[in-house]
Amino acid sequence: MPEVGASSSQPLDIRSEHARARVLLPLAIDAAYDYRAPAQLSVAPGDFVAVPLGNRERIGCVWDGDPSEDEIASSRLKDINRRLDALPLAAPLRRFVDWVARYNCAARGAVLKMVMSAPDALDSEKPQNGYVLAEKFALPPKFKWTEARERVRRALLANPALSAADLSREAGVTASVIKGLAEAGALRTVPIGRAPVFAAPEIKSPGPPLSRDQRACADDLSAKTRAGGFSVTLLDGVTGSGKTEVYLSAIAAALSAGKQVLVLVPEIALTAQWLGRFEERFGSPPAEWHSDLTSAQRRHIWRAVAEGRARVVVGARSALFLPFAELGLIVVDEEHDASFKQEEGVIYQARDMAVVRAHIENIPIALVSATPSLETFANVESGRYQRLHLPDRFAGATLPDMSVIDMRADTPPRQAWLSPTLRRALDATFAAGEQALLFLNRRGYAPLTLCRTCGHRLQCPNCTAWLVEHRRESRLRCHHCGYVSPPPKLCPKCQSADSFAACGPGVERLADEAAALFPKARIGVMTSDTLCGPGAAGDFIARVEAREFDLIIGTQVVAKGHHFPLLTLVGVVDGDLGLAGGDLRASERTYQLLSQVSGRAGRAERPGRVFIQTYMPEHPVMQALLSGDRDRFYQAEAASRRAHGMPPYGRLAAIIVTGGAEDAVIAAARALARCAPTEPGLTVLGPAPAPLRRLAAQYRWRLLVKAGREVNVQGAIRDWLAKVNAKGVRIRIDIDPYSFL
Ligand code: ADP
Ligand code: ZN
Ligand code: ZN
Repeated sequence: MPEVGASSSQPLDIRSEHARARVLLPLAIDAAYDYRAPAQLSVAPGDFVAVPLGNRERIGCVWDGDPSEDEIASSRLKDINRRLDALPLAAPLRRFVDWVARYNCAARGAVLKMVMSAPDALDSEKPQNGYVLAEKFALPPKFKWTEARERVRRALLANPALSAADLSREAGVTASVIKGLAEAGALRTVPIGRAPVFAAPEIKSPGPPLSRDQRACADDLSAKTRAGGFSVTLLDGVTGSGKTEVYLSAIAAALSAGKQVLVLVPEIALTAQWLGRFEERFGSPPAEWHSDLTSAQRRHIWRAVAEGRARVVVGARSALFLPFAELGLIVVDEEHDASFKQEEGVIYQARDMAVVRAHIENIPIALVSATPSLETFANVESGRYQRLHLPDRFAGATLPDMSVIDMRADTPPRQAWLSPTLRRALDATFAAGEQALLFLNRRGYAPLTLCRTCGHRLQCPNCTAWLVEHRRESRLRCHHCGYVSPPPKLCPKCQSADSFAACGPGVERLADEAAALFPKARIGVMTSDTLCGPGAAGDFIARVEAREFDLIIGTQVVAKGHHFPLLTLVGVVDGDLGLAGGDLRASERTYQLLSQVSGRAGRAERPGRVFIQTYMPEHPVMQALLSGDRDRFYQAEAASRRAHGMPPYGRLAAIIVTGGAEDAVIAAARALARCAPTEPGLTVLGPAPAPLRRLAAQYRWRLLVKAGREVNVQGAIRDWLAKVNAKGVRIRIDIDPYSFL
């Protein structure tokens, strides 16, 4: 095994009997605490140790920095209980934790907690038992092979020994079914090893022959990967140009150089096609890291990454905090995607933090997109990032033909949302035996339900938000807090019966309209509601590929990365949806999303057509989509941001004050405003009630810090918040905010 994760620091001084160590605990605490290392225990920074805290034992990590000799007398320090049998946390990862905490104004312990995401991986693995089928057993009287038991049997035929938990997941049965089978003698217990073993990727396959442009990009990225050293490269190419193919080559280069690779993707649930391609190229699947893993899976993968047994990890943003032993390349696919911004717990932008990790690890990173974020675009313009360009779709496939439908002239009938032009295009597509996609970024049946008698709107009791009708399941749902209720019989305000009217379309209502117009078309609806479970997206996509649907109706989950060869028509039902509200990135994001949806059309031999329905055909976003002149749109957007000192040319930070009592929230927000920093180049706007003034029964007020790029915003915020003693409220800091709700 390579020398992995070895700490570069010297062991602490243990000549004296009272060697001290600072221990950072995975709690919302910034400081590392001093402990005493007993004489017989030598510990060094990076070591995982068990220490007493209050009357509990906690696992923490020995941290860098000199112990604060004068704070607490050694004699009063508590002893470290023991050192854990895990590889130490490498120095670059410790520096990364410090960096992420400082940049995002978060507690270092909270960031360490994201690193220690598989706590039981830190103790050596206990021997585990698993089940196999008993070769022969006498069926007890009354024993029946129920359907559930049959699934267990099939799962065990298809797999080597499985632990009870894995077996129950594989077979989709409860623990009691397994227990019943074991008691009946149908299963036999065997010891199982440290499964799963991660197969080494096969790097002999050269991959498909690349086009000249692809070759040039792949050579550049592979050379950087082999050479090592920090660099940021934007891999910029239209959808279907082969960006994935190019970075798979760079991954191969990293693997042949004996390095590990991290690929960050926006939504791991949507990567079924990607995983298939990876496996085809490298002979075995990569390790997958996301929030749906069981604790056993987390433990296995975490340890395998630390020990260098897992060579490639594909994951959502949290994979960024895995303890790679020999990381040699990071790829951020769809780098512009807003889901890289984590909005809960420690608020951070995973794409930006990935660049920081690459810098600290001194390795190259590739940011991949057909529609880069304006931040990345600006970094390319200023020469901080390099750019590789793939201008054309692969194998002569052409970009779709774009049209904008002016809804003021091309009006749908009342209570319908598809314009006559789009209806005709759908008709023609089905007649030609091709597939169409209707994109509407709204789940449910209708976004608003109101009373025709008194005008009352059905609102979430916990949020400043309307309840969304989900007619298929006969429920009203709040998309902000998860509140669910059956639709009321009477209006809660005026008690009228049968007085509710649905306003506006969601995907369900659109599906009804399409079904009425095209009774023969087979319609599949794809939203986060219809996709349950990790395999669901893959299943749906396989059904699209198998031509089980003529029409796909979906929200943004259909926009991401899929490749449907027979899909030739894309209709954007409401192109203006993302432009309403008008936050900082509304235009940028709408452009990115609509380009990406459009990119689903005509990816194979048959050319594609895209229709965007809009009430603002003259809007710069629509004009840019029509002309295909992306860079001109970006330049105009950049100029306007620069003129207003907005990101990426200026800096923003949001301070969000929340609490159950609005008085206390307002008082705290005003107290903050009164002692706001007065540094030159920095202004504080607000406080103002947040657009989502109430969320999950919490009141919310916001302040916004706006500053020049040269200002140390984090330092100013830290000093500022230290001055305010806020009782009964929570204050959250969002550096580089993406959400202004
Ligand atoms: P992007 O990531 O830019 O959207 P992909 O890498 O997914 O593009 O490529 C689009 C399609 O073209 C995929 O089906 C891919 O397999 C195919 N393709 C791209 N480059 C090549 C190549 N050099 N040889 C064969 N097929 C390719
Ligand atoms: Zn009413
Ligand atoms: Zn709610």
